[in-house]
Amino acid sequence: MTLRCTKNSCETSLQGETVLCSGYDAGHGSVKREAVTVSIQQGRLQESPLQEAPARISGNLRAAALPGTQRTTGKLLATQGYVVGIEISGSGARQSVALADLNGTILQRVRRPLEYVPDTKTVLQLLDGMLAEAMAPDHLQDGRVLRVGVAVGGLVDAAHGVVRTLHHAHGWDNFPLQDYLAERLDIPCIIDNNANAAALAEVQYGAGIGERVVLYVALGRGIGGGMIINGRVYHGTTCTAGEIGHLLVKENGPKCSCGGFGHLEAIASAQAISRTMIGLSVEYPETEAAIHRITGARAERITAEQVFRLAAEGDRVAQRIVDDVHTYLGIALANIVHLINPGMIILGGQVAQAGDLLIVPLQARIRDLCLPAASEDLRVVQGRLGTEANIVGAVTLALQDI
Ligand SMILES: [Zn+2]
Repeated sequence: MTLRCTKNSCETSLQGETVLCSGYDAGHGSVKREAVTVSIQQGRLQESPLQEAPARISGNLRAAALPGTQRTTGKLLATQGYVVGIEISGSGARQSVALADLNGTILQRVRRPLEYVPDTKTVLQLLDGMLAEAMAPDHLQDGRVLRVGVAVGGLVDAAHGVVRTLHHAHGWDNFPLQDYLAERLDIPCIIDNNANAAALAEVQYGAGIGERVVLYVALGRGIGGGMIINGRVYHGTTCTAGEIGHLLVKENGPKCSCGGFGHLEAIASAQAISRTMIGLSVEYPETEAAIHRITGARAERITAEQVFRLAAEGDRVAQRIVDDVHTYLGIALANIVHLINPGMIILGGQVAQAGDLLIVPLQARIRDLCLPAASEDLRVVQGRLGTEANIVGAVTLALQDI
C-alpha cells in the first residue's frame, strides 16, 4: 500500500509494517507503521512519532487549493478498507449515511429524514448516531474507513471545504464542515455540492459512463447543476459553477428561493411545479378534482411527475405548467449547450421521474434553439441512479482520492 501526496510530489510507502517516506533514499530511514502519523499540513509532508496511531493522512491543503479546483485529501492507493458517503439535503428530507467498499458498492445504509429544514446542531447530532450505526465494528471486517465524502444540498466552497449556505437553514453560513468531520472522525473528508457529487456519480457509475463533457441537472426541490469535464467537476473561481437554478429565464417571473425573480428554479423545480399546480387549480374545478383523485385527497402531496401525467391525460392547467417547464428549461439548457458544448445532459431529481414526458419535448426544444453543430451529437437522458444519485455521489467523492 502506498500513501502518496500528489499535491506536493512527495510520496510515502507502506510496505508491510514499515513506512518509507520519499526522503528514504536521502537517509530519512524507515519507521515502524504503528509508531508514526503521516500528515499533510500546509502543503508539507510531516512525520511525527505517535503512540498507538495508525498511519493516516489528514488533509489540510487550504494553502494549496487553487481557484476552480477540487480540494483533495491526498492520494491514497489502497486495496482494502471502506469509504463513507454522507448526504445532507437542504430540505431535511434526505439525510443519509452509506458505508461502501472500494469498488463503490454500498454495504450499509442509514437514513434519517426530517420534516423540516435542519440547523447545523440537529444535523451534526443526527450524523453522530448515523455514522456510529453505519461504521459499527462488525461492519468493518476488511479494515478501516479511509475517506469520507459529503454531498451537501447548498452552496459549497469545495476548495476550502466550507458550506457557504443552505437556503433557509440556520447555522450553516460559512460552516467548515470538512474540517469538523475530519477532526471528529479522524478520517480525511471531502465535501461538495450535491449536484456536483451526483454528476460525478452518474459519469462514473450511471448514465454518463465514458462521456467527456457532461452537464448534470438536478431537478429537485430546487435546481442544481454539475459540470464534468474530462472526469472532473468544473467548479469555477468561487465554486459556484453549475448553479443553473438561478439563471434568469423570464423577466418579472415568479420569486426564487434566493430572493431573485424569474429564475429557472422558480419555474421548473419540483416545488415550483407542485405549488403552481395547486395555486392555479383553485380556479379550475376539473383540475382540482383531478388532483384530488391522483393524490388520494392530499393535494399538498402532488408531485411534479403527477403533474406531467395529468398534462399527458389532457388537463389544461397541467399542460400550461409543463409547457412552461419545457420552454424555460429548454432556453436555459440551450444557452448552456452553446457555452460548454456537452455530449450529454443528464436529468436527475424528482422532476426527471417524469421520464420521456419531460425529455422528448425538451430535447426537441433544445434542438430548435441551438446551432445544429452545437446540438447534433447531444443526448438528453434521464439519470440512471435516480434518487440514489446524491448518496452515490458522496461515496464517489470519497473514492476519488483512492
Ligand atoms: Zn434564484
